[in-house]
Amino acid sequence: MHLLNEQTSEQYLTQIHKTSAIIKEWLNDNNVYSGGTPQQVQAATSINIQPQGRDIEAILADIQDKFLPNCVSTAHRHCLAHLHPPTLVIGQIAEMIIAATNQSMDSWNQSPAATYIEKDLVEWLCQLCQFETNDDVQIHTQTDAPVDNQARHKAGGVFTSGGTQSNLMGLLLARNKFYTAKGVDVHKEGMLGQPRGIILCSDQAHFSIEKNAALLGLGVRCVEKVKSDASGAMLMSHLQQKIEETGADNVMAVVATAGTTDLGAIDPLIDIANICRDQKIWLHIDAAWGGALLLSQRYRHLIEGIQAADSITLDFHKHFFLPISCGAFLLKNQQDFESIRHHSEYLNSPDDEKDNIPNLVTYSLQTTRRFDALKLWMALDFLGTKDYGVLIDNCLRTARQAAKRIENHADFVLVHQPIISSVLFYFKPKNTALSDKQLSQLNRQIAQDLLINNIANVATTQFEQHLCLKFTILNPNTQACDIDNIIEQMTITGFDRLQNYEGQYYDAP
Ligand SMILES: *Cc1c(COP(=O)(O)O)cnc(C)c1O
Repeated sequence: MHLLNEQTSEQYLTQIHKTSAIIKEWLNDNNVYSGGTPQQVQAATSINIQPQGRDIEAILADIQDKFLPNCVSTAHRHCLAHLHPPTLVIGQIAEMIIAATNQSMDSWNQSPAATYIEKDLVEWLCQLCQFETNDDVQIHTQTDAPVDNQARHKAGGVFTSGGTQSNLMGLLLARNKFYTAKGVDVHKEGMLGQPRGIILCSDQAHFSIEKNAALLGLGVRCVEKVKSDASGAMLMSHLQQKIEETGADNVMAVVATAGTTDLGAIDPLIDIANICRDQKIWLHIDAAWGGALLLSQRYRHLIEGIQAADSITLDFHKHFFLPISCGAFLLKNQQDFESIRHHSEYLNSPDDEKDNIPNLVTYSLQTTRRFDALKLWMALDFLGTKDYGVLIDNCLRTARQAAKRIENHADFVLVHQPIISSVLFYFKPKNTALSDKQLSQLNRQIAQDLLINNIANVATTQFEQHLCLKFTILNPNTQACDIDNIIEQMTITGFDRLQNYEGQYYDAP
């Protein structure tokens, strides 16, 4: 079987069955990580490409022997390291359809039905965020292209590869608008010689803000960090001070985070939105994580104010439990897409637009693009918004239970009360005097031991002077008893390490 077509469809079925059976077996092994150290994994997975190909059986056998055992299983209830979820089966089914149909979202004639499904879903997401129709929007067009009348005052958006790309789009459009207001078309002319604009975000904001600022030719140094409070949320007094110091005219954008990567903190969205509205500053809300609360019955109020953003980042390959990649960028005023409009005759000709044929390449940084929207649509259709919300809420509940357990444990220190579903803490055995450096090494070792010994996948991160262990609970099946189990194993491992290495280990290179 080479290409997927009508002649190979029988074989396709057989091979897909075989592959699914292998996946099933791997899942049934119920390991969180059965692989080895980085060196062992590197040795086990070296590839060997020959002039002659091999048959599928041999390749699948290698996948079974070498690849799968060296994967972390996001499906496991003890896999709690990152914003990296177990995936919904409906998402896997969607992936099969995405791959088999291989629609490309750049032009309508490469994705006829998919284009409309994505457009509908974007509209649905805009409504979910309560983006309002803005009737006195100024229309700026940079080309003579006719503007779709219906699109004039509407919100818009596009699916992206994830939060990093969505944040890039937010900053790109904010940058263009900032310079347009100063009479400069930087999309055409570039920024050489132009005055510098400042991007304000909290010191807990995602690193992609700085990386994207560099990509946009603004430089990392145009990103100025606003201090955060003990919970990790942006300090309003400091934001105000920064805007005054910089002058509102020199602020290109404020980026608020709804769900910071480590603490899950949510910046005070309503207060930030009020300042941005008064000062006419672009507000981008990075809700890559916290956007999941849009479906939550219990916690939706935590992201109240999201509707005031000019642009929003959402990620569905995190707390929406969908396979990578799946994200969206939403824009309050679709007209702002005009500043990045490019026409290429072969994809989005003005004639197509006259005929009302949508070619989504106009709104995307990508050209060829996956039909990732299918995963979200099928998942929403399957679960319904209510049960989707329950899955999300389950994770938040478990995080709160985990925090209680840790708070009441004599040998652990809880660093913060969870807001979404991350819990930061560290092992600090009572009656043992260890320096901060020793504690850091001990905690890092605990996380490594738990993974290598196939017990749990937990992350480490730095918070203030402490190296912390981090649970990111994105598995709705993870229960308080799983947390108890992991904490017990952490305690055993921690004391083991202490006993075996005390006095010598911590000074070892
Ligand atoms: C994960 C994350 C991102 C980056 O998203 P990717 O999908 O990994 O590119 C951006 N911002 C926040 C707050 C995140 O948690």
